[in-house]
Amino acid sequence: MSQCISKKTLMINEMGIHARSAAKIVKLANKAHFNIWAIRDSEKVSAKNIFDLLSIACPAGVWIEFVVDDAMDIPVLNALTDLAELGFGEINGESAGTPEIRLNGVSASSGICIGRAYVVDMDSIQVIRKYHISEPAIGKELKRFKSAVKKTRDDMIAIINDACQDIREHTDILQTHISLLKDKLLYGKILETIESEKINAEWALKKVTSSLRSKFNRMADAYLKERATDIVHVSDRILMNLVGADMADITRIDRQVILVARDLSPAQASQIKQETIKGFITDLGGKTSHTGIIARSLNIPAIMGLKTATNQIDTDDILIVDGTSGIVIVHPDDSTLMEYALRKIDYEAQLSRFLKYRFVESKTLDGFWLGVMGNIEIPDEAQLVIENGGDGIGLYRTEFQYMGRNDFPSETELFDSYRNVVQQMAPRPVTIRTLDVNGDKALNHSEITEEQNPALGLRAIRYSMKRPDIFKIQIRAILRAAHFGSVRILLPMISSCEEIMEARKMLSIAGEELKQESLPHRSDIEVGIMVEVPSVVVLSDMMAELVDFFSIGTNDLIQFSLAIDRGNREVAYLYSPLHPAIIRMIRQVTENGRKQGIPTYMCGEMAGDPLNIPVLLGLGLNEISMNPQSIPAIKRMISSLRLDACSSLVEEALRLKTTREIMDLLHSTYGSLLYAAV
Ligand code: PEP
Ligand code: MG
Repeated sequence: MSQCISKKTLMINEMGIHARSAAKIVKLANKAHFNIWAIRDSEKVSAKNIFDLLSIACPAGVWIEFVVDDAMDIPVLNALTDLAELGFGEINGESAGTPEIRLNGVSASSGICIGRAYVVDMDSIQVIRKYHISEPAIGKELKRFKSAVKKTRDDMIAIINDACQDIREHTDILQTHISLLKDKLLYGKILETIESEKINAEWALKKVTSSLRSKFNRMADAYLKERATDIVHVSDRILMNLVGADMADITRIDRQVILVARDLSPAQASQIKQETIKGFITDLGGKTSHTGIIARSLNIPAIMGLKTATNQIDTDDILIVDGTSGIVIVHPDDSTLMEYALRKIDYEAQLSRFLKYRFVESKTLDGFWLGVMGNIEIPDEAQLVIENGGDGIGLYRTEFQYMGRNDFPSETELFDSYRNVVQQMAPRPVTIRTLDVNGDKALNHSEITEEQNPALGLRAIRYSMKRPDIFKIQIRAILRAAHFGSVRILLPMISSCEEIMEARKMLSIAGEELKQESLPHRSDIEVGIMVEVPSVVVLSDMMAELVDFFSIGTNDLIQFSLAIDRGNREVAYLYSPLHPAIIRMIRQVTENGRKQGIPTYMCGEMAGDPLNIPVLLGLGLNEISMNPQSIPAIKRMISSLRLDACSSLVEEALRLKTTREIMDLLHSTYGSLLYAAV
């Protein structure tokens, strides 16, 4: 049954609803599937009709209520109020004034938001004075520092306790921050510095923090580099309490804004309430930051790594944040504002329409079933895979449980996590990938010193072979978890047959040991390899005899075969899954798998883009795995295609020499399907 939903907004632009603003309202309202109304006092008119709108005469300072007859049109309602709250871009000539600026950053969470900026100001305490502390006053200074740390700890515990349910699972980073507060490298060193150098606590804090930060920053690894940020966040908080300044308290924001910050700590991000924060952007931060993870679980658009956003944006500037493409538009002009208001409606409407496809069978029109699975990094994400209709887990990146700590997880710890995922998913399959550390995912306590080319270094299976003790613990935990459901094991970064043979040998030893110990387990589970190094493609006929399945990791396969650093923005334009060489490689792997009777799966990002689905079907993939949120859209695509037509399309694509031609072929054949209303 349909249900009326309304939102009230104050006319703040000088002329209220006049011909131009009314035309904008009508343009947005026409996106609604059902009736949409504008109400002033007791007068109710259709928002789709310009003459009706003008007839209710809404000058500045008057409240107007927009009402939709069906929940399906909430995105239109939101866009209308967004625009009205910005005075239709007409306040004080704003729309005609300052030139539009576009900034590019790293997309951390998808979606579009439009609103006013709120710049989180940390500059007020950037200037720290150094002064000398006399011998008798040292004790007092140490006490002052200790009580600032205690206050910081109390504040952080309060944040954890107040965190809303959605983000509570991510507050473990705050726990890490709390433990950092008393770390001897930070806390101990600062106390020591105050005492030995007889300087004030603020200066000692600054000195120790910058030395620790530069130490972390010098590390080649991106993950470790980001840990430097944790130290800065903790020290900022202590500093605030030392100088008595108020931490930029985002909980006090009482209007809807887009946060703009140089950096946003996980502690601050955890305080975000969707009712007031539409989205956020930061100068610093990258993909692996915990703040980005929190943005995704809150489901608000976020862009990080913008470098200069805080210099170019002032509080109250109008902003458009396109989290999907990583673009921020400052002072959008009239037409940009309308363009994005319309895009936002389409994006939100598309998302809610796609959801209905989550439980359709991922079968083509001519009856071919292509498994659609989810990729996860932590056990809690298994629920997201189920909610989005995933047929199982195609990639469980287990390395995250090893990162950000100073020891290796125990067999029991690993077993508990794996069993948790396996039981949540049962009877659906769970593909557990063994440790893929190093490269861009180094361990805190790695014995590996700096590598010249970490992506080509001692990572993944190579590390597991070098540390059989660590590998054994993990595979024992996997075999034990397999007792509770359907588990497959996946070996990362394989480049030779020897590695497969060696890993299989260790698997059977682990199985034998568990048998001797009478611990419940399964040792007959499927063993597969990631296809991400070109040598595996070349040897796929032979390797197919040694494994039970292939799983193509396009993220690395593209990086290694096209020689493009996947994390380097300068060469990102070359990074193309539809490159003719990549298509041929996938074909070679699926063909060799088929001849040997083993399935080929894909768990790289290529699998999560609907445009690629006709190609993947035609190339003979048996199962694909992706970010859980992409599952409904992919299922919709599969259920609208015919396998025979996709196979013909691939035959044609294999004769084309350039990525452009392949893209054009795809767009001309399936573009209408991609962009068709759902
Ligand atoms: C890949 O390389 O495609 C892959 C799925 O692995 P990761 O992204 O974890 O390197
Ligand atoms: Mg990889």
